[in-house]
Amino acid sequence: MNEFDLINKYFNFPTVYADLGIGDDAALISKNKNEFYAISVDTLNLNHHFTNTSDPFYLGWKSLAVNISDIVAMGGIPRYALLSLSIVKPDASWLSKFAKGLRACAKKYNVELIGGDTNKGSPSISITIIGDVLKKSVLRRDKVQVNDEIWLTNEIGYAALHFHYNKIPQKNRQAISSYLKKSAHENFIKPMPPLNFIQKAKNFINGAIDLSDGLAGDLKHISLKNGFGAEIYIDKIPMHKWFRENNFYELVLTGGEDYQILFTSHKKNHNKINNLLKKLSMTGAMIGYVSNKKRIQYKLHGQPFHLSKDGFRHFG
Ligand code: ADP
Ligand code: MG
Repeated sequence: MNEFDLINKYFNFPTVYADLGIGDDAALISKNKNEFYAISVDTLNLNHHFTNTSDPFYLGWKSLAVNISDIVAMGGIPRYALLSLSIVKPDASWLSKFAKGLRACAKKYNVELIGGDTNKGSPSISITIIGDVLKKSVLRRDKVQVNDEIWLTNEIGYAALHFHYNKIPQKNRQAISSYLKKSAHENFIKPMPPLNFIQKAKNFINGAIDLSDGLAGDLKHISLKNGFGAEIYIDKIPMHKWFRENNFYELVLTGGEDYQILFTSHKKNHNKINNLLKKLSMTGAMIGYVSNKKRIQYKLHGQPFHLSKDGFRHFG
């Protein structure tokens, strides 16, 4: 049973007062006539999401950034956070660096830490985030339309390259420049959800999702969920040229942790979106279409491209 079957089987309780419950990047509750509160929670656990050697500053940054990402994906502005922290014993140096990283991310995105919980236990960081969303421009996965163009906000694959670096065969590794290695590391430790772009583009967007689990998996959540499918042109996916030259497409498609936004939009907005991406110096691009076939089809150089069942894992 995967995570989503489990949620469906045990926790998909009916909602009465919420405007949107389980199933999107954040839940929505009416705040006033014009706005919703968007609320979401994400947890990082020791040995699953971080290790004892992870840099505490960037762990602080990332634990808040992955939550901000979910609010951005709803078209919202992150406002408040609550931090639930479990640690074995207080380590002043670790805590000070962790708090600095958290504070840096909070400052960058204008988020206020308004509460939390501190416990003794297996190391775990859980943040609940609350944001504001204008009702008229909320980005819900169920607003995706057939024939919408599918877009990405920036290049993807970097974080996965860093995370799976040791699994990459020596011959491909040799071609990784020190610049690419550094970018991959930076993307992994310091995700930067594209809040500014989505706020400027939200009126052109129908539905959006943040890329946490990997493009291939997250694409299913946004298209199959509505009874649709997608046609994706791998040649159009923005990625560093190393991935193309070394045929590492599966790593890009299934690697995850990009924290960029995948969104869909009517084709009449194509030029406006492209211009905005350019203006903000972003490397995003249109990568395909929402189709009415209930499957995701990938094409590489005009030919069908099939993902292996285990994705990049077969390199291991
Ligand atoms: P994301 O990757 O955007 O953080 P998830 O994939 O973790 O979202 O969760 C998918 C959806 O299921 C979300 O709407 C989330 O709120 C909901 N969800 C996840 N775990 C649970 C749970 N244990 N109980 C209720 N809802 C859950
Ligand atoms: Mg999400």
